[in-house]
Amino acid sequence: MNENIAQLARPEVPTLPAYNAGLSSDAVRTRYGVQHIARLGSNENPHGPSPRVGAALVDLARQIQYYPDASATTLRDALAARHAVQPGQLVLGNGSEDILQMLCQAFTGVGDVVLTQRPSFGLHEIYPRMMGASVELVELTADLEFDLAAWCAALQRAPKLAFIANPSNPVGCMWTAEQFAQLLQAASPQTLLVVDEAYVEYASLTPGYPDTLAQLQDCGKPWIVLRTFSKAWGLAGLRVGYGVAGDAATIALLDRVRTPFNVNQAAQVAAMAALKDEAYMRRSVQATVLEREALAQRLRTAGLRVAPSATNFLFVEVGRDAAVVAEGLLAKGVIIKPWKEPGFTQFLRVSVGLQEDNQRFVQALSAVLGRPI
Ligand SMILES: *Cc1c(COP(=O)(O)O)cnc(C)c1O
Repeated sequence: MNENIAQLARPEVPTLPAYNAGLSSDAVRTRYGVQHIARLGSNENPHGPSPRVGAALVDLARQIQYYPDASATTLRDALAARHAVQPGQLVLGNGSEDILQMLCQAFTGVGDVVLTQRPSFGLHEIYPRMMGASVELVELTADLEFDLAAWCAALQRAPKLAFIANPSNPVGCMWTAEQFAQLLQAASPQTLLVVDEAYVEYASLTPGYPDTLAQLQDCGKPWIVLRTFSKAWGLAGLRVGYGVAGDAATIALLDRVRTPFNVNQAAQVAAMAALKDEAYMRRSVQATVLEREALAQRLRTAGLRVAPSATNFLFVEVGRDAAVVAEGLLAKGVIIKPWKEPGFTQFLRVSVGLQEDNQRFVQALSAVLGRPI
């Protein structure tokens, strides 16, 4: 990097890691000359969105010369009704990652501590650091579960903000309703609790998963729950997520840092159309959960360690450098995510795809590891 330009930047910026979004399908095709690509690196829904979404987008094509509704009124009202909250308790984002960034811009700065999990969803760490806050990471237990006692102790020290992913990305483990109640008990009123439920539609099929919004209601502490249309709803390419906060005052602060037209028209229209066909989403989620259990069992039977997952992905220990394994899989047209955080470099995260792609993954992994799976 050019020295001079780096000196002009805020001191936090040059030290931030670049987000590792992986290679695109086209890049893999060109580099390795493979035809079929199994896209299992980004936890997308391979079944895609309801067909109603495509129809709604075709109709939209005649109106794209207009700016979108900056308050996303139709979508906001629909989501408020869905969750039985006031429209003023909702913030919409260009993906929920946009809201993670707004939260850090509005609430964190130099001297603040942000609490989250390790291994983590990278942006739970990168955005606070971007603002100059320091990040405290809670470790997993030895059996790849959340450490309730460590989290409660850390929450009692009143960090400015706590990112609680439920379930975890990349591990897939979850907080149960009972554990979540204890976290809430331990939390200080000086901490904004941010519960990231990107995989809630999958996790709610796992017994014990909390009704977080119900538990947070009237808890007397500041909170916001984040959801996204990128995963189960199949709209990752359009970018739309939202947050439900306990208090409209939280949303009013986020609105100060939000870019006015952050959720584009196509995203608003598509999310509305998807919401109207929830049954389609539920069917795809059920299919994925069945596939997940079959894949996990197959990998475990072959002697690989797989963390219990309440999501649409698996965290798998491969017994050697996962980056090297990932490279071998790429050459066979299978995209997964090798983990890079210290202590987890022998783990890969694989999204649960359609049956034939999971099959391709298993065959490719078997070839790369040189053992039957
Ligand atoms: C995928 C994911 C998101 C981001 O989703 P977008 O709405 O696409 O920005 C947020 N949090 C977690 C934990 C995720 O896995």
